[in-house]
Amino acid sequence: MNKQKALLIIKPDGVQRGIIGKIVSRFETVGLKIIGLKFEWATKEKIIAHYPETEAWFAKVGQRTLTNYEKKGLDARSVFKTNDAVSIGKTVKGWLITYLQESPVFLAVVEGYDAIEIVRKLSGNTIPVLAAPGTIRGDFSHDTIDLANEQNRPLRNIIHASDTVEDGEKEVNLWFKPEELFSYETAGEKFMYSMK
Ligand code: ATP
Ligand code: MG
Repeated sequence: MNKQKALLIIKPDGVQRGIIGKIVSRFETVGLKIIGLKFEWATKEKIIAHYPETEAWFAKVGQRTLTNYEKKGLDARSVFKTNDAVSIGKTVKGWLITYLQESPVFLAVVEGYDAIEIVRKLSGNTIPVLAAPGTIRGDFSHDTIDLANEQNRPLRNIIHASDTVEDGEKEVNLWFKPEELFSYETAGEKFMYSMK
């Protein structure tokens, strides 16, 4: 059995648009258990610790820009003065620090079987145009990489969701104290997943 915890962050664009309830409802409806919820005005230090500081993560983020710019016949050097994926990724991380402090963020911890894959599926692709209808990003956002990069900001894509079991554990511990998490059994859980 693969019970996992995932951290969700409704980013400032989701908070500002007044769609917190709609978003949380999607995770509840699918049957994940909410075990923590709160508002927080994130600090720079926490955002730095939240997003990885690894070459691999910077390269992944930078490559997203390069692939999108190539697809549209644009040159990333017009914004970043370089075509190096790692350098672009580092710039985007700097922008994330500003973005995630634009308003308080809404944080939730959900728990369930294969919770990580489920929260990623419900959130949808990072890039709104690639996010399928029915997903949170597909239904509630339509930002583009080149528009965002030109305005020196990250994609406004509503939500963060942990994307590996290890990241889920790390992120839950970073944002929540043990006493802010609740252990309880839901009626649905008793009925649906009982091993008796
Ligand atoms: P998150 O970690 O927020 O759930 P993700 O796992 O889908 O998103 P990451 O690769 O971890 O995507 O990137 C973190 C966030 O940084 C994205 O959600 C997006 O807001 C922003 N971002 C990533 N790549 C770019 C890019 N090339 N240009 C602009 N913004 C980007
Ligand atoms: Mg991520």
